[in-house]
Amino acid sequence: MTSRRVLPTEFPVANHRAIPYHAPMTDDKLNLSKLKGKIIAIDGPAGSGKSTTARLVAARLGYTYLDTGAMYRAVTWFALKSGIDPSDGDKLGEMARTMQFEFATEAEVNRVLVGEYDVTTDIRSPEVTLHVSEVSAHKSVRVAMVARQQQMAKEGSIVAEGRDTTTVVFPQADIKIYLDANTRTRAERRLLDLKGMGIDSSVEEQEADIIRRDKYDSERTNSPLTKASDAHIVDTSNLTIEGQVDKIIALIHSVIK
Ligand code: C5P
Repeated sequence: MTSRRVLPTEFPVANHRAIPYHAPMTDDKLNLSKLKGKIIAIDGPAGSGKSTTARLVAARLGYTYLDTGAMYRAVTWFALKSGIDPSDGDKLGEMARTMQFEFATEAEVNRVLVGEYDVTTDIRSPEVTLHVSEVSAHKSVRVAMVARQQQMAKEGSIVAEGRDTTTVVFPQADIKIYLDANTRTRAERRLLDLKGMGIDSSVEEQEADIIRRDKYDSERTNSPLTKASDAHIVDTSNLTIEGQVDKIIALIHSVIK
């Protein structure tokens, strides 16, 4: 479905919205009127468990999950499909401003749509992963994406996940969490995710990719990966996903009174 070559002109109107993930009612949701409208920002390097954790925390709280990495991946996917060079900041910025992009939830899976295309799996491909850091380093792309992310979060009740969400996108977030883990653990998690999507790789390959992306992302000029001074740092190396989620929910309760 996503293999057809598409051109930016096929998607003339900017369109973006985030649809809440509908999870069953839980005690967290019932008792959390105090949390209504808040912004929770989760930051950290590739493979720290941000995405899964943020998605599950959002589900527990009845919040919308905003996966900013998926947005940069969608821009990269679209650029590659449209034949736009990952070094062409002007064209990429224009595309990031105007492309149709949407999150949708289907059977409790968060789907990513670019125009009529469901790119949920394709944006995780090795080709997109290889180019996403370069594409997302352009100021023009970041300005467009940050504006869209802030627009999506204007009602609050959002768990925003991504490496500049605590510093640039939502510096006013009600709680900021920086997830970290050692590179081997992060590589093993990435490998499991990829396997689940039927993509073949090795832990060595993933660890090398993680080290490469960390370096690129922390050394870039525009919004480098940094820890916000007021972020709560959670090392997830020895935590299960459930453990991570419980820890963060407890943290949220203790910070937002
Ligand atoms: O979170 P994920 O690994 O899917 O992000 C893919 C890439 O998108 C990151 O390696 C980074 O280069 C870029 N990114 C970014 N800013 C964000 C989220 C992701 O630059 N807020």
